[in-house]
Amino acid sequence: MNMPARAEGAVGAPLDKALIKRLTTACHILYMEGQNDLNHGQISARRGSSAEYWIRGAAMGFEEASSTSFALCGMDGGRLSGTVTVPPEWPIHSAVYARCPGVNAIVHTHAPNALIFGAKRRPLVPLSHDGCVFAGALGYFDLTTNTILDLNTAGRLADALGAGKAVLLKNHGLVTVGGTIQEAAVLAVCLEQACALQLRAEASGHISGSEGSDITEKEEFIFSDAAVSTYWSYLERKLARVREGRQLPQQRY
Ligand SMILES: [Zn+2]
Repeated sequence: MNMPARAEGAVGAPLDKALIKRLTTACHILYMEGQNDLNHGQISARRGSSAEYWIRGAAMGFEEASSTSFALCGMDGGRLSGTVTVPPEWPIHSAVYARCPGVNAIVHTHAPNALIFGAKRRPLVPLSHDGCVFAGALGYFDLTTNTILDLNTAGRLADALGAGKAVLLKNHGLVTVGGTIQEAAVLAVCLEQACALQLRAEASGHISGSEGSDITEKEEFIFSDAAVSTYWSYLERKLARVREGRQLPQQRY
């Protein structure tokens, strides 16, 4: 992954407050970017370098997240702090954190284009800039299309992730990971966009992606740490405009 594997501060109340604030913003961004599905999906962030993580509670939409919407969860799924119910797909998060010490944040959504594209089991072509960042870093999980409720199944998902950045879950959605909340959220937005573009390209009957060094050079420049940070900042500003009713209409396609 691009962002360095690092904790987001010292463990303690200030860290928890900062993590929860950023997680809340990420929830709202994921909703704004069309990744909500009723009350499904989760986002989590590891607490420092510990085996505990904050996760959005069960049975709420991403747009409903607030400072009280998160539970501190142990690797066994037990709630250590907070008042909301730990979501039933906590095993995804525990399995990935246990397997990947460099991962500090995880997004799981039922993003529609990722879900449709994942059902096709086709390689993601580096068609767009977004597609390039997942070249060689996108896993595929089809052990089940059902909700992932146990650590054994989640461990297979972690296998599919490997050292990558994301996994497409057949007939289910996406999982993205990052060294930071910002990276995991930006990657979720990018993966959904890359899947949407490839679906459109395939419908046109012709598809041709970037090749060779173009792919790695795009990843290094367009998805450098600094660039990902600017994408997050842009999404934060866009969210503020949407909240204030100031966002200009956009018709991209
Ligand atoms: Zn799910």
